[in-house]
Amino acid sequence: MLDSVSDTQETASTPREARCWMITGHVQGVGFRPFVYRLAQELGLNGWVRNRLGEVEICAEGTAEALDRFAHELIASAPSIARPQIENTAIVALTGLSGFEIRASAPTETPRIHVPPDYFTCPDCLSEVGDTQDRRYGYPFTNCTQCGPRYTLIEQLPYDRANTSMAGFPLCPDCRREYRDPLNRRFHAEPVACPACGPQLEYIDQDKRINSSSVGLHATVTALQSGKIVAIKGVGGYHLVCAAQNATAVAKLRARKPRPEKPLAVMFADLDSVDAYVDLTEDERTLLCSPMRPIVLARKRATPSPQASNQRGATADEQPAQPELAPSIAPQLNEIGVLLPYSPLHHLLCRSFGAPLVVTSGNLSGEPVLTDNREASARLAHIADAFLHHDRPIVRPADDPVFRTIAGKPRPLRLGRGCTPLELSLPHVLKQPVLAVGGHLKLTVCLAWGDRAVISPHIGDMGTPRSLAVFKQVIADLQKLYDIRAERMLCDAHTGYTTTRWAQSQSLPVTKVWHHHAHASALAGESSCDEDWLMFTWDGTGAGEDGTLWGGESLYGKPGHWQRVARLRPFLLPGGDKAGREPWRSAAALCWETGRDFPLDEVGIDLAQQAWCKRINTPQSSAAGRLFDAAASLTGVLQKGSFEGQGPMMIEALATLPGNVVELGLALYEDGLWQTDWAPLIAHLQNRQLTVAQRAADFHASLARCIRQQAEQLASQHHFTRVGLTGGVFQNAVLAELAVAELNAAGFQVALPERLPCNDAGISFGQVIEALHVREKSGRAH
Ligand SMILES: [Zn+2]
Ligand SMILES: [Zn+2]
Repeated sequence: MLDSVSDTQETASTPREARCWMITGHVQGVGFRPFVYRLAQELGLNGWVRNRLGEVEICAEGTAEALDRFAHELIASAPSIARPQIENTAIVALTGLSGFEIRASAPTETPRIHVPPDYFTCPDCLSEVGDTQDRRYGYPFTNCTQCGPRYTLIEQLPYDRANTSMAGFPLCPDCRREYRDPLNRRFHAEPVACPACGPQLEYIDQDKRINSSSVGLHATVTALQSGKIVAIKGVGGYHLVCAAQNATAVAKLRARKPRPEKPLAVMFADLDSVDAYVDLTEDERTLLCSPMRPIVLARKRATPSPQASNQRGATADEQPAQPELAPSIAPQLNEIGVLLPYSPLHHLLCRSFGAPLVVTSGNLSGEPVLTDNREASARLAHIADAFLHHDRPIVRPADDPVFRTIAGKPRPLRLGRGCTPLELSLPHVLKQPVLAVGGHLKLTVCLAWGDRAVISPHIGDMGTPRSLAVFKQVIADLQKLYDIRAERMLCDAHTGYTTTRWAQSQSLPVTKVWHHHAHASALAGESSCDEDWLMFTWDGTGAGEDGTLWGGESLYGKPGHWQRVARLRPFLLPGGDKAGREPWRSAAALCWETGRDFPLDEVGIDLAQQAWCKRINTPQSSAAGRLFDAAASLTGVLQKGSFEGQGPMMIEALATLPGNVVELGLALYEDGLWQTDWAPLIAHLQNRQLTVAQRAADFHASLARCIRQQAEQLASQHHFTRVGLTGGVFQNAVLAELAVAELNAAGFQVALPERLPCNDAGISFGQVIEALHVREKSGRAH
């Protein structure tokens, strides 16, 4: 107190006061403290700022007016990737601080940790990379407090360089100066690097090994130009890259991966080049350029247009039409996945190559993307002609996120690099920390405690040693990073899932959640858990309460209280799991179920029919996803696919016309459930008087009408204000949009998932929401 008297003599005229703030939100690793420092300097405040494991604590002394202004600007002028919130403000005693300083991190007993995702390259860094006079000219690992990797390089918190995979790169004197200068954009930019001290590229092919970033990059571009496939290590893992206009190169990539038909993403140098190939909505354009830099599925143009010639005032002669992309990039589909460069390496690559690049995950089918140099070299050796490695370790994988416009909004199909760990708030506080291990395909896991739920990036499909290893690592890492130990496991009710068996082996209490309850609760958890819903949970298959495979279910109620009220007519599915890749199996099942012959002669059909008759490996299923497979087969579009969902994607792509509704019967069964009968569709789908496109359109229109009919019927018995559409089937934009239109016409409010994918990636969060309410219910019962 004595100090304050001597230090504040110059301000005798204006009364001074002291305030402290706790700032929460995204304030770690985004340059927030330097921003606070500069702001305090500008406003002539004394005091300090420091990290408190995830939160930022600020104390400042000055006039009330300056402090008010400071508090306002803290939020209003914060760095664009920071999302600060003032948790609380306290007026404290003046202690006569002099100057303003950034203090060392303080340990705290109640950390509120936010692990930042990986950020795209900021404009400042990008201009340095392109500036021949800058010391970071052409340097592929340039970053600052506003950009660069985070989630994929943080080993543990607090977020300091020593706790990242940059610990092995001692700073050079120039970088150290920037790192220590509070007024520099790189002040405490933990991954800061430059050509003198940071990571480097390494190019390897059969003939040579190049340990120089610039020469290695040049060799990569030459290899790509000659039609080679290069495995390139990026931010969250490897990509397999080839020239997108070179049909031979694309065919080679497909044959080697093998990935005969699944669509491939294409990276373009800039928005103008994207525009030449696809039609973007305003929302898609915004999303494509957002810091997340996701893959966006966008509508192909029939022929590539001249590149933005009008805006540039160029004539048609100067701007010839762009060469076509290889047709095999997204065969028989109307959309392609496009993305923009998000790291300096990708910018440099796109710029030097000068044409679009196929950029697909460097993994083996369904597995998590590869991250380790040696493992990638070994496991991608049969696919890649060359490798572009770098020596910055990737601590854990994060694949590119994928979005698609469905029912008027871009919605995620996959979460990953740039948007995860994704944090959602829970509607109530959990009594104990839980870990939800999700389902089996398109896996994510969710760690939840208090009122917070943190969802991992896309892990992939379970069933391989690598996916199991990454699954375990992500679970261990999330708990370590957030300093939370789960006290209960949540898993799918399917006893055969690897994730379920793992959860049961953890010597913790386990709560099983029905697959479709989790789907329904995930959607309710995004918007409202307090009102009653009618949820259409349509997907490929998941274990149902009655021991059959569900997937065409309508659930009434709210989290913890779902009641199955309607379904699609169940049928026996020969070959069980095989049906997802062999649409003919679903088609044959529908025919046999209704006493028809199946008209095609597929390999294995006799065996399948015998098995079907004897009920061997022919689970009963009501899955809508299998109806789409059957439609693909009955229309002659696809009998045997190379990936799950291929039949449904193709039949959707064909449905571009207005459809005619085939009336499907809706009847009440003795078990109290309403059931829609798909039988009238069988003959219609095989009607050769109609074009395949017309049949595909009619199929969608009929199912959308079935959704409306069920909703209208159920509304007469139950009270619900909203109808939800969720489950992987609603990745089908045609169906989703027709269903929304039908439901709106009948006066219903409709919701689809927005924050999380409607597919099984949402299951982990749904398990948390479901368990939150089930436990509440059992708590009340005691
Ligand atoms: Zn930057
Ligand atoms: Zn340096």
